[in-house]
Amino acid sequence: MRLLIKNGRVIDPSSKTDDTLDLLIEKGKIVDIKAKIETKGAKVIDASNLVVTPGFIDMHTHLREPGQEDKETIATGALAAAKGGFTSIACMPNTDPVNDNRGVTEYILSEAKKNALVNIFPIASITKDQAGKELIDMADLADAGAIAFSDDGFPVEDSQVMRRALEYSRILNTPIIDHCEDKKLSNEGVMHEGYYSYFFGLKGIPASSEETMVARDIILAKKADVPIHIAHLSVKGAVNIIKEAKKKNVKVTTEVTPHHLFLTDSHLENYDTNLKVNPPLRSKEDAQALIKAVKEGVVDVFATDHAPHTLDEKDVEFDKAPFGINGLETAVSLFLDKLVTKNVISLQKFIGMISTAPALILGLENKGKICVGADADITILNLHKEIVVDVNTFKSKSKNNPFQGWKLRGIPAMTIVGGKIVYSSASLENFK
Ligand SMILES: [Zn+2]
Repeated sequence: MRLLIKNGRVIDPSSKTDDTLDLLIEKGKIVDIKAKIETKGAKVIDASNLVVTPGFIDMHTHLREPGQEDKETIATGALAAAKGGFTSIACMPNTDPVNDNRGVTEYILSEAKKNALVNIFPIASITKDQAGKELIDMADLADAGAIAFSDDGFPVEDSQVMRRALEYSRILNTPIIDHCEDKKLSNEGVMHEGYYSYFFGLKGIPASSEETMVARDIILAKKADVPIHIAHLSVKGAVNIIKEAKKKNVKVTTEVTPHHLFLTDSHLENYDTNLKVNPPLRSKEDAQALIKAVKEGVVDVFATDHAPHTLDEKDVEFDKAPFGINGLETAVSLFLDKLVTKNVISLQKFIGMISTAPALILGLENKGKICVGADADITILNLHKEIVVDVNTFKSKSKNNPFQGWKLRGIPAMTIVGGKIVYSSASLENFK
């Protein structure tokens, strides 16, 4: 099918394009871009007053299949991603069984091919069963289609194991995504350690739990001369370590989630388990440091850390609830409303951090950009439409999202994957 997207404001950070242009899509690729394209036999999308961007990529999603399909399946996670404006998602390996062998990677890819509306890129674990002891056969998993390696949810405590993983990742040219946490320092804490943890009587996770591991792994990555990507940055101390490392040309990149930017430990006053997340919501000072780091370019990527859990699992005492926030369907509106609309960062910068940058880090050569020959993965934004977050409208199987009731301006209006429209909000039609 041919698709002609007309009159949109096309923003492509990779070529510094920001102009009103038409885009012609054929056989899953972008085949023409210019001010006016006249052609017959194509389906026309009028994108007047809308923003046409490279498809958004979430490099930190937890799908729960195989093993925990009551929380999410590959199909429902992909549907949630499509509605959230994401054309590609990379899924973490903490499934059941863990994605530490070829069989699981191949299963995810084949289910994705059959049932997923968006591109799914499996991330394999670093160690067998994510136990931190024995490296998986990284070459075999990269060959099977793993796009990166991560023990996300668990840190790799053994420095020698991490060093070897980094060395293999250099040979395979497949990045390590690093969950930085010293579990001994976290000491089974459930929230950020500070004034509010004492005030609320909950066990705290100190900032040093993250800082020490960020420092260690930057040292190891520098020694191995290999890129490392630090997942879900949450504390000011870690921002400073990464900032210094970047100044010294260490190949470190990092990501931040909406909840670590827009929520803090003080929000836990009602012991709402939907706010229980790892790393925990940190102090106001940390959140401010993260926003500054986004503005200064210390943070490279916006990611969701979408972690679906059932209602029953979260409907328990705070101490006992699982960590995780459901994020795919609220992330884009949160970033647009809180950062772009309020002029904290430019629209171009936002788009770059959620499409171009993750494509570069994950080595997705034909994604994250709008140019002739690139994959026709496109996200169309309506910057004017206001929504009130309602978890009951989520396509995700789970509803554990703390932004319920938030009024936000700016939405993903249409999601196109490989030249196929996989999601269209009613607002696209209404806006014309
Ligand atoms: Zn993690």
